[in-house]
Amino acid sequence: MIFDLDRFPRVALGHWPTPLDDAPRLGAELGVNLLLKRDDVNALGAGGNKLRKLEFLLGAALAEGADTVITFGALQTNHGRQTAAACAKLGLRCELVLTAKVPRSGDAYERSGNIVLDHIFGARVHICSGGEESGRTHDKLVAEAAAEGRTVATIPVGGSDPVGVLGYVAATAELVGQFAERGIGKARIVVPQGSGGTAAGVALATALLGRPVAVDVACVGHPADESLATLTSLAGDTARLLGVAPPTLDHIRIDDSTLGPGYGVPTTEVWDALRLFGRTEGVVLDPVYTGKAAAALVGWAARGDFDAAEHVVFLHTGGLPGLYGYGPEAVEAMGAAGP
Ligand SMILES: *Cc1c(COP(=O)(O)O)cnc(C)c1O
Repeated sequence: MIFDLDRFPRVALGHWPTPLDDAPRLGAELGVNLLLKRDDVNALGAGGNKLRKLEFLLGAALAEGADTVITFGALQTNHGRQTAAACAKLGLRCELVLTAKVPRSGDAYERSGNIVLDHIFGARVHICSGGEESGRTHDKLVAEAAAEGRTVATIPVGGSDPVGVLGYVAATAELVGQFAERGIGKARIVVPQGSGGTAAGVALATALLGRPVAVDVACVGHPADESLATLTSLAGDTARLLGVAPPTLDHIRIDDSTLGPGYGVPTTEVWDALRLFGRTEGVVLDPVYTGKAAAALVGWAARGDFDAAEHVVFLHTGGLPGLYGYGPEAVEAMGAAGP
């Protein structure tokens, strides 16, 4: 392989490889040769894509002697919940600095879903009104830790820095191995982009591995131009970390047509996608990330973007606990007429 991940410190947080499942009923519905890469399925902390990044991020933190981890997110952050679970397993203190970025309130959003799990995993949850307050809270926590002789590792939103991206370089190498085992040649990977580390890792590794694999990115947090800039810069920095030249990324496309009003705000197309996945395959999506990526997949399939000879792999990144933050809204949406 043209990159070597073994030289980076890493902790074991998941069972790999995750399943690569056929989805024949959903595939038939969409007219696509469809597979689901189940990165939502893992034992630790209810699973999800952040475990892959945290294997490297917390590996680095432990190598630097950290005993306290601080990270950031929205109130219903899946990243925060998985960080809390991993810290519990490793015996680290976890401080979650959360902001109310999403225009949702009420008991379900504020006291259910990921928040419940953050508390169960023993994280210290700090709720802030915005970026300025979360910055101040971070500084205060760092000062407090220093006064108590503790060593802090700060992990960015979504775990999206070059060390975190290594997790999705590893994931892509794993997936490409599964393609080889199953004799899959031409393929396309559909992936959501929030903070960008997941899509950057997939885009970088597919480019470096030189397979006939294209990457379709669905924006869930930022418009396409911003998302592309983030992805390109993360992929470039990660290539340099790996000691290879940043490759051109002309095998990716970025689409924000299902972003809707913004991060964390589901649209009718999102609820329709949840219903479709649920009723054809018994697979649960979340309304913030995978639901938007699935809505994009449905739109591309309807437009005839996929060719019959290629396999389309939907990367299921998790997020089930976050669905419960939208529980009442989801029940209402599922009750509405649909297939
Ligand atoms: C964080 C997250 C994503 C987005 O991954 P990024 O690396 O932040 O772009 C997608 N799906 C789920 C369920 C997530 O929690």
